[in-house]
Amino acid sequence: MQYADCHTHTNLSPDSDAGISDMIAAAKRADLAAYAVTDHIELCRWYPQGYYKARPRNDEDFFNYADRFERSMQQNLIARQQTGELTFISGIELGEPDADFALAERIYTDKRLDFVIASLHELQGKLDFYFLNYADEDVDTLLERYFSTLLEIAAHNCYDVLGHITYPLRYVEGDAGIAVDISKYCGCIAEIFRTVIRSGKGIELNTSGFRQKYGKPFPDAELLRLYKDLGGKILTLGSDAHRPEDVAGGIAEGAALAKAVGFDRIGCYQHHDPYYITI
Ligand SMILES: [Zn+2]
Ligand SMILES: [Zn+2]
Repeated sequence: MQYADCHTHTNLSPDSDAGISDMIAAAKRADLAAYAVTDHIELCRWYPQGYYKARPRNDEDFFNYADRFERSMQQNLIARQQTGELTFISGIELGEPDADFALAERIYTDKRLDFVIASLHELQGKLDFYFLNYADEDVDTLLERYFSTLLEIAAHNCYDVLGHITYPLRYVEGDAGIAVDISKYCGCIAEIFRTVIRSGKGIELNTSGFRQKYGKPFPDAELLRLYKDLGGKILTLGSDAHRPEDVAGGIAEGAALAKAVGFDRIGCYQHHDPYYITI
């Protein structure tokens, strides 16, 4: 069975050292039908440093993603000519679109893009969930803010799928070992799903969690079932690989989980139009 990996990074993302040709070679070795490069474009850092009058908050805090976006689109344009039988999807992972929704919606219409994943990695005024010290945080307040911001993002025309919708659990449950009663947020999550579905958009099943301490995809089977029950039809699979070894990682397991929940196909995108691969 051939699958698609719709979420991967290259060294144009601050947290990856991988050259795009090595990533494409890995995608070919994995016998994928389609492969997306979705480098990080952080909207809270779109402009040069002077605009924010701020110092980098950590080693991965870069400015001027406008320039990075141009380089990414150039790189994807060249890559598209090198993938042969493998369908190339020119994408971005648009982080923190809530920083500027008008800009996010403008970027979404760029003709060089096939596919946009909208992701929320940090709340306004806070660091990326990766950098938080959970002993000092009110996890409940953080998660309430996280899901309500995701609901706002879902209502804007700046994405094709919402990325890893349970991202904070990777750190809260996976790394800090704090149990989360997700049912407290299910009302808001259901509203996110209804908004996504009504807008003709989708969500991704991010399989990176299979290879992390968390051990489950984002979202897990329970929330994936909720999405299906509410009428969700568009589901993409993404490994979130930042290195060649992880390309297509967990995709077969993710497809099996999607099938068990009742999906008989997974989504891919060209020019923001979904098409499907039967699983
Ligand atoms: Zn992400
Ligand atoms: Zn990613």
